[in-house]
This record gives sequence, C-alpha cells and structure tokens, in this order.
Amino acid sequence: MEFTQLIDGRSETSETSFDVINPATGKVFAKSPNASKAQLDAAVAAARRAFSSWRSLSFAERRDYLQRFGQAFKGYIEELIPLLVREQGKPLAAARSELSYTPLQIERLCALEVPTEVLRDNAQGRVELRYRPLGVVGIITPWNVPISIAVGRITQALYTGNTAIQKPSPYTPLTTLKMGEIARDIFPPGVLNILSGGDDLGPWMTAHPGIDKISFTGSVATGKKVLASASSNLKRVTLELGGNDAAIVLEDVDPAKIASEIFWAAFANCGQICLAIKRLYVHDNIYEPFCEALASLARSVKVGDGLDPEVQIGPVQNRMQYEKVLDFLEDTKRAGARILAGGHALDGPGYFIAPTIVADIKEGTRLVDEEPFGPILPVIRYNDVEDVIRRANDTRYGLGASVWTNDVKKGAAIAARLEAGTTSVNQHNLPDPHIPFGGAKESGLGREYSSLGLKSYMEAQVINIPAAQPQGMK
Ligand code: NAD
Repeated sequence: MEFTQLIDGRSETSETSFDVINPATGKVFAKSPNASKAQLDAAVAAARRAFSSWRSLSFAERRDYLQRFGQAFKGYIEELIPLLVREQGKPLAAARSELSYTPLQIERLCALEVPTEVLRDNAQGRVELRYRPLGVVGIITPWNVPISIAVGRITQALYTGNTAIQKPSPYTPLTTLKMGEIARDIFPPGVLNILSGGDDLGPWMTAHPGIDKISFTGSVATGKKVLASASSNLKRVTLELGGNDAAIVLEDVDPAKIASEIFWAAFANCGQICLAIKRLYVHDNIYEPFCEALASLARSVKVGDGLDPEVQIGPVQNRMQYEKVLDFLEDTKRAGARILAGGHALDGPGYFIAPTIVADIKEGTRLVDEEPFGPILPVIRYNDVEDVIRRANDTRYGLGASVWTNDVKKGAAIAARLEAGTTSVNQHNLPDPHIPFGGAKESGLGREYSSLGLKSYMEAQVINIPAAQPQGMK
C-alpha cells in the first residue's frame, strides 16, 4: 500500500521515507513519506492562499464540506480498521469505535455556533464582540488515539474558517494519511494539508512564520518546547498534555460492583489514554478486596495482537514507550511495592506487558509521581478524606480526576475540590464535543471542544458603532 501526503489538494510522496512498525510484531510493515522543509513551505503557502476564500464562506457552507468529508470517510471505515490496528496496536473493536466516531464527532462539533455577541446597544452606541478566524492552524497529534484527536482539531479549525496543516505522530502516520487522501477530493486545494515527518517536522511547524496557531496534543515535555518555539511570532497555542489522574474510592462502595469500570478506565488502550486513571486511592477499609478484584480482572483479560477479535488489550505502542514502562516497573519493584498481577513483559516479538496491579505503594515513587502511560496501575491506601484530597492535588499535573461513592452529593463536593480540568463522580469521563476539555496546571493550556474550544481557533474582535453620526461627520 502506498501512502501519500496531502499538499495543496495534491497527493505527494517525498524524497525520503521512514519505517512504520507494527507494535504487535515489532516488525516494519510499511513506509511513510518523510516531509521536507520545502513541502512544509508549500503546504503553508497553499493554506495561506486558500484562507481568503475559505474564511468568507458561512459556517453553514463550511459545515456542509465537513459533513461531506465525514460521510465519505464512513465508506472507508472497514478498510481502515486493520490499518489502524497494525500501526497503533489497539484491538479491532477499539479501532472500529475510534474510526466510527469521525462522522459523529464532525456532526456534533458543527452543531455548535459562535454567534456575534452584543455587549451594549443603547444611547451611547452599540458594541459587538465578533470572532474572526486566525489564519493557518498547525495541528500536531500523538500516537495513542491518532484519528479521533486529529479529526477533532481539524474540524474545529476548518469549521471556524481557518485552513490547516496536520502532522500525525511518526509512530502512527498511516491511517491519517489515508484520511488525507479521502479529504483531497472534498475540500478546495490548500484548505486541509496533511504532512507526515520525523523529528524535524513538528519544530519546523511551531517556528514557521506562516502558521498562526498551533493546536498541540502530546506530552508535557514536548508541550513546553512547543510553547517556547511558538512564541517567535506569538502564535496562538492550545496545549493538551499528559495527565496523572487520581481516582478516589470512598469506603462506602462495593468493590465487586465498580472494580470493572475502574479497571477499564485505567487499562483501556493499554493504559495509553491521557484521561486514564493513573493513581488509584482506595480507602483502607475496602483496600484488600478492591485490590484483589482489580488483580483478578488483570489476570483474566486477553492480551495480544489487536487483529485477534478476542483480544482486549494490545501491545504498548512503540519500543521507547515499552522500555519506559518496563523502567517504571523496575523502579516499582526496587521500592518494595507488592505486585498483585502482571509485573513483567510477555513473551513474543511485540511490545507486550502483562496488565499490572501494584499495591502498597505511595508518593515518592516514579509510578505514583509521574505518568507511566502504559498497562500499570498503582493502588494507594488512604484513611482520611481530607488527607487524600491533599495528596491527589499534590502534583503538577491536572488533566482529570474522579471520586467513586454511593453518596453522589458528597462525591460532587469532593470532585469540586480536585485541581483538574475535568473532575467526575462515579465515572472518569472522556471528551464530548459539547463539553470543554483541557488540563489545569502543567496538563495543558486552553480548551478544545464546545464553543470555548471553537473560540480558541478565533480572534476576538470588538466593533464600536456610535448610536448616531456626530455632527460634522457626513
Ligand atoms: P509527544 O509529545 O512525544 O509527541 C506528540 C507529537 O509532537 C508527535 O506528533 C511528535 O512527533 C511531535 N513532536 C515531538 N517533538 C516535537 C517538537 N519539539 N516540536 C513540535 N512537535 C514535536 O507525545 P506522544 O508520546 O506522542 O503522546 C503521549 C502523550 O500525549 C502522553 O503524555 C499523553 O498523556 C498525551 N496526550 C494528551 C492528550 C490530551 O488531550 N490532553 C491526548 C492524548 C495524549
């Protein structure tokens, strides 16, 4: 299968390419084009040319283009499922659900509106607050949920009248490139460009003077580099970064009833979700049965190649991440924690790690203090609610958090005190296009989704109109 980039409405290969590895086998199975600086410059020039006519379309006209794209994409979902599984590693059902979300996500985002606001309309005059598109948006995305993250950002950028250049992670570029091939026949040339590259392409984009905004989704460390680089021409920046989400389980719950939901909120996508539970605080009175319920789930799930329909958890997505998670594991063992399930890599050529439940561990270890982003969950004991709130908040991360209890009112009061962008009761929510999503503290800057997200792809403009023409100004 050949993979091409989308530049100025044309499919383009590149002079060089790089290998794409299937994490379930550890073997190269395809090659991706490797964009040159000249190709980025061409894409930026095309996006700038396309901007003036694209911005002058109405929201309804742009919605129509996006919906046509969503419908066309629908026709390719079955073909793309095995490709997404092979490059990303996730199980078939998860790939199907990620890809099927594309038309729905477009539909829901394009149901939002950004109306002009009238701030004043009286004898003094009329003051309007309008929102104008910014220009060219650079969209940089990670490897864990490559399609739905890209589609969310592309839709918000295009719907609000911007043109865009999107760059997938070099670990998972292929399904995104195929998406570009579908988009080629729908959008006017230059409106959407999709480029795939190695380590240089992201920094070229963030420093490019022809790009007006960067929407970046990835790790905290890279997010800080993006922010520094984007300051060269004061690009607008949205950063959706890593998390180390705490979930607090109060003593009034029945472990048997909620263990499965908590387990999947931590281990779906092999633990590689920004908004996964990564620190689980469980009250002392139910600690042992809760740990045992989680461990028995961890021992029973089927881990393997996502192409096997029975598989529930696939491999870690890439070798670097796999080694990082194994390092966390070694550190955890050195700290003397109790490994209740898993705790080791699985045999085979792929990047498989047994789902791991760790008990008797606390703050001060890497597993609790940092984001592992893999199939390993620390279960931390606590006795006192005030103490656990303090410990949950004692971090530079702030993406999500949750409280699990039979007393929803009490749960909501605790959730409101947790320092994170999204805090929930009896769920650990995933983004919804109508609800703002983003991180507090070092988990991000700004919000995606909802009208708040749409406005982040726009510049606010105040228009002052006098009530009547002053004398002598005819
Ligand atoms: P990463 O930061 O390594 O890479 C993300 C993207 O940035 C990739 O496309 C990469 O090629 C590019 N990149 C790398 N260096 C760059 C640079 N100097 N300048 C510009 N771009 C550069 O992250 P990852 O390992 O792909 O993804 C995992 C991380 O993403 C985790 O921390 C996870 O929590 C986070 N994440 C956050 C969200 C969210 O919405 N908050 C969603 C998904 C993933």
